Amino acid sequence: MAIPAQFLDELTARCDIADVVADYVPLQRKGGRLWGLCPFHGEKTPSFSVSPDRQMYYCFGCHKGGGVISFIMEIENLTFPDAVRMLAQRAGMEMPEEGEDDDFRRKRKRLLALNKEAARFFHAQLFTPACTAGARYLFETRGLSRGTVTRFGLGAVPDGWDNLIRAMADQGYEKRDLLDAGLAVRGQNGRIYDRFRNRVMFPIIDLRGDVIGFGGRVLGDGTPKYLNSPDTVIYNKSRNLFALNLARKSKLGRIILTEGYMDTISLHQAGFDCAVASLGTALTPDHAQLLARYTKEAVIAYDGDGPGVSAAQRAIPMLEKTGLKVRVLRMKGAKDPDEFIKKYGHDAFQRLLEQSENHVEYRLGRILDQYDLKDDAQKVEFLQAAVELVASLPSPVEREVYGARCAEMAGITAEAMNQEVRHTRLRQVRRAKKRQERKDLTPAVQLQPGTREMRYANVRSARAEEGILRLVLLDHTLFQKLSELTPEQFSSPILGRTFGLLKEHWKDGRTISLPALTGELTPEEMNHLAGILNQPENLANSETALRDYIEIVETEHTIQAGNGSGEDPLMAIREKYQEKKRYGG
Ligand SMILES: [Zn+2]
Repeated sequence: MAIPAQFLDELTARCDIADVVADYVPLQRKGGRLWGLCPFHGEKTPSFSVSPDRQMYYCFGCHKGGGVISFIMEIENLTFPDAVRMLAQRAGMEMPEEGEDDDFRRKRKRLLALNKEAARFFHAQLFTPACTAGARYLFETRGLSRGTVTRFGLGAVPDGWDNLIRAMADQGYEKRDLLDAGLAVRGQNGRIYDRFRNRVMFPIIDLRGDVIGFGGRVLGDGTPKYLNSPDTVIYNKSRNLFALNLARKSKLGRIILTEGYMDTISLHQAGFDCAVASLGTALTPDHAQLLARYTKEAVIAYDGDGPGVSAAQRAIPMLEKTGLKVRVLRMKGAKDPDEFIKKYGHDAFQRLLEQSENHVEYRLGRILDQYDLKDDAQKVEFLQAAVELVASLPSPVEREVYGARCAEMAGITAEAMNQEVRHTRLRQVRRAKKRQERKDLTPAVQLQPGTREMRYANVRSARAEEGILRLVLLDHTLFQKLSELTPEQFSSPILGRTFGLLKEHWKDGRTISLPALTGELTPEEMNHLAGILNQPENLANSETALRDYIEIVETEHTIQAGNGSGEDPLMAIREKYQEKKRYGG
């Protein structure tokens, strides 16, 4: 995507990050920074900071960070070009005309249009003789109304290798487009055929109403039973939720989280228009944050079987972290919400919803399930597990209430329970503190990026590489000393690439800042780099520090690369630096 560099430079110069963030988060000045409650994770004491001098934000709690464009992308859930557009409007700047070379945007547009046509095709198929099986499944087996099928744009596709390919060719789309949209696949023999065959089709619609992907359930015994679009330039499964486009307009004041699209659709049909589902993936932290933007309360309504229970256990802390109130539905007499509604109807589900347990009750119930309290030995084990859980609750009131309940269940006095909880809590707090201290003292661990793809292969070199980035961002003139250092010498690909980009900016006389690179880095990379920049760096001895950093990077690179000349590469490089130091090179 090509938004001219000059335009971005002017935009970031005109949109002061402190002003922009202040529209979302009340900030208070303390030291050289502004502080506020992080909008990206739930917290009671501020760990979200804005540095006006670096034009960056960083949260010490959830480690999100970046510049003004990243902030808008994150908080408004926008793509890079859309975030730029929004800021441009705010700054009263005219967006540059869509250039000839704007391939990316045109591609996106084309794929969205293709998906829309495909959804229309699938929907129309439902009412043709070729798809009676699909129609029967939705209307009869699942009992969906005509209105529900239209509301969700459901469809079907008959058996065959190229039903969609041929239909879309009539609309002017090539096989290449279908491949890019994830609607077709290339076989081992090179032949291209429809990804979805003999299936009922569920379009996935984003918050703007665009069809970004599909889920398909097989008709008959084929495998896999459920098939979803792969991630494409328009679809990212860990950032989109099925039916959130509808649920966010619900007046019910909560969002119900289900495991599959059929559960979500039957809940909507029964009047619970606040249901959503994650598609082809377990709930991710991104999903949790997305939900937290539209509701205060999430109700987990997963299947009652083993996998459903463990998925719920994993989802609870993720949702809690975003500050959402989390409740868990315990289905009785049915395996999933769809079956429950069919068997017992709307009112029964409403009652279930009202009785849904908060997450503490839910977790306590799971512990209780594991032990037979009539057996003394098991009773002791139950108490141990219950004490660990109760002690971990942050609120003293909760500890009191649930502690008393556990005591009653196990037939011991509330005081005895209380004492156990207090001891365990002290131990937990001490353990957490120690763990934190150990972490703070281990720079190698602390410095490792969170995402596996970015993991440092050579921590010693990577620390020096981080130092170089910190220094040049604080003092751009230092680039003059860096003419010999190349991105290829960096051990970390992400740090090397960032260095290369900044160096180009410097050569072209453009803005040198991390925010200016927003469009060229992923949000995860931006978070990591913002974290690096937040570590202290002293400019007083910047030239010496820089020289040391360069030496480490070059030495490590030479060792890594080896040297075929027979001469000891380490000796050679050491001599080079001794000479430089002697003559002040
Ligand atoms: Zn945060």
